[in-house]
Amino acid sequence: MKNYPESLRLYEEAKLYSPGGVHTSIRNVEPHLIFTRAEGAYVYDADGNRYIDYQAAFGPFILGHNHPYVNGKVIEALGRTDLFGVGTTDLEIELAKKITKHVPSAEQVLFCNSGSEATYHAIRLSRAITGAKKLIKFQGCYHGWHDYVARNMLSAWDKIGTRDPGSAGMMDEAIDNTLICTFNDLENVEETFRQNKGEIAALIVEPIPHNVGCILPQPGFLAGLRQLCTDYGALLIFDEVITGFRHDIGGFQKVAGVTPDLTTMGKAMANGFPIAAVAGKKRYMQRFNTQPGGDVWFAGTYNGHAVGTAASIATIEMMENEPVHEHVFRLGDRMRGGLREILDRLGIEAYVAGFGSVWTTYFMGFEPKHYADLQHNDAEFYVAYRKKLIERGIFKMPMNIKRNSIGYSHTEQDIDDTLEAMEAVLKDMKNK
Ligand code: PMP
Repeated sequence: MKNYPESLRLYEEAKLYSPGGVHTSIRNVEPHLIFTRAEGAYVYDADGNRYIDYQAAFGPFILGHNHPYVNGKVIEALGRTDLFGVGTTDLEIELAKKITKHVPSAEQVLFCNSGSEATYHAIRLSRAITGAKKLIKFQGCYHGWHDYVARNMLSAWDKIGTRDPGSAGMMDEAIDNTLICTFNDLENVEETFRQNKGEIAALIVEPIPHNVGCILPQPGFLAGLRQLCTDYGALLIFDEVITGFRHDIGGFQKVAGVTPDLTTMGKAMANGFPIAAVAGKKRYMQRFNTQPGGDVWFAGTYNGHAVGTAASIATIEMMENEPVHEHVFRLGDRMRGGLREILDRLGIEAYVAGFGSVWTTYFMGFEPKHYADLQHNDAEFYVAYRKKLIERGIFKMPMNIKRNSIGYSHTEQDIDDTLEAMEAVLKDMKNK
C-alpha cells in the first residue's frame, strides 16, 4: 500500500503560491500527488511510488510518457531551430503534409497550441462563412474553456440541456447563441435546426463523447448530423482533440466514414507536447487571414513552434511505421474483456464501455446513450474504487465518467497486473 508524505508536504507548499495548488480545475483531487518522473506506461510521485498510468494526462499519451523516438526528434530539432516570428519552418510544412495526407477532411491545416484555441478558431470561421451566429453543441461534450463552448458539460442533473454557464464571467451573448442538444438523438437535433432556420453557423461534436467516458454514436447518428448540417447550411465540426490519432491515424472520421467540414485536433497528435490544429476544406480554410485577403483572424506567438511540430511529426511517423493502433486496440480488448469477466464473476452491476485504447467502467446496469443516462451511475462507488487502486499503484481518471487510455508502451503484463489489482479491490468493496 502506498504512502504519500512528501506529496502531501509539497501540496501544502503549492497552495501557498497558486490557487488550489494546481493549474487546471479538474486536477485538484485526492490523494494530492506530486509527480516527479514519467517513463513509458509509468508515472512516479515525490515519494518514489510507481503507478501504471491510464490517465495519460487526459489523453495525449498514445505512445507512452517520455517516448525516446519523439523526445529524440524534439531534441534534434532544438539543436538547430526553435521559433520564428515571420515565415514558416520546414517542420510546419512537413507536419501539414502528413495531416492533410491522413485526415480525410483536412484539405488544409493550421497549427495552434491547445484544443481550446482550435475549437475557438473553427467556430469563428463557421460564423464568418455562414453569416449566422448560433452554435449547436451536445450536453456532456467538452470543447475547451472559452465562452462559446464552456457550458453544459458535467451539468447537475437538474440543469441538463438548460442554460448552464460553465463559468462565472461568461458573456451572455455567447451563452445565448449556443444551443444544447442530446447526443444520439437526431430528432432533437433536427427540431433545433428547424426552430433556428438560417441562424445556425455550426454544429460541433466529439464524434465519441469521451469527456463523459465512452458513449458510442449509434449507427447512422454521425451520418445524420452530416446530412442535417448540409441540409440547413451549417458547418459540421468534428472535435477530434481526443479521438484524432488515438483511434486511427485519420481520426474517428475515417473509422466512421463521415467527413466533417472542419476538424480540430490536439492531444495524441504529439504524444504530450503542446500543439493543436484546425483543419478542413480548402475553400473554408482560405478565409483565415494567414492567406492574403483572408478576413478571419488567426494568430499566435507560439504557433508552429519546433517543439510541437517536431513532436507531432515523430508521433505520426511512429503510427506510420509501427503497429501502434493494432497494439493499443488489442490491449484495450484485453482490458475490457478481463474487466467484464471480473465484474460478472463478482456480481457487480457495471457496464464496461470503450473503443480501441479507451475504456470506462460505468457502475450502472446498461449502456448509456447520452449524458442524462449517467444519472444511474454510482459515482461514489467509483471514487472509493479509484482511491484503492491508487494505493495499489494503478492511476486512473478522477471521475469514472471520464475515460482511461492505453498507450503503445503498456504491455500485456501491465494489463494483467491492473486486472489483478482491480479484482482485489472490487472483491474487497463487494464484501463490505
Ligand atoms: N476538445 C476536446 C474534445 C477536449 O477533450 C479538450 C480537452 N480535454 C479540448 C477540446 C480542449 O483542449 P485543451 O485543453 O488543449 O485546450
